[in-house]
Amino acid sequence: MWEKFDTNNDKFYDEILSKAKIKLPEIVKSDQRFVIPDVESNVEGNRTFFRNFKDLVTTINRSGSHVLKFFTNEIGTSGSVEGNRAIFQGKHSKTQLTKLLERYVNDYLLCPECSKPETHFITQNRVELMKCDACGSRSAIRSLN
Ligand SMILES: [Zn+2]
Repeated sequence: MWEKFDTNNDKFYDEILSKAKIKLPEIVKSDQRFVIPDVESNVEGNRTFFRNFKDLVTTINRSGSHVLKFFTNEIGTSGSVEGNRAIFQGKHSKTQLTKLLERYVNDYLLCPECSKPETHFITQNRVELMKCDACGSRSAIRSLN
């Protein structure tokens, strides 16, 4: 009697386990795609205002100075942060800023191994690396001068 009960029980757990395994890829798939926030910007005179800069930096969990440096390097201009905004010298379209943001996210946020955004920078032997909290991989990143 007891033996029979145990056997049934094992089967029951096997069933739960196989159902859990089937469900897993769906979960992985659903949170894999990172949605890049929209850039809110406008040009005033000869300056460009990236209005939701600070919100964006908070969303992607990166330092404002690092993101600013990337943008000013890529645009080839100077810039500063004032409150929630980043201000760049010169006129730059929202399309241009969005493309740069996409590049930043690809180069400095998404893990090259698993494409997840749960990453942070670490310094190892004076080399800056990006470590992924999701899969544990470490990857080289281009340093910003
Ligand atoms: Zn990863």
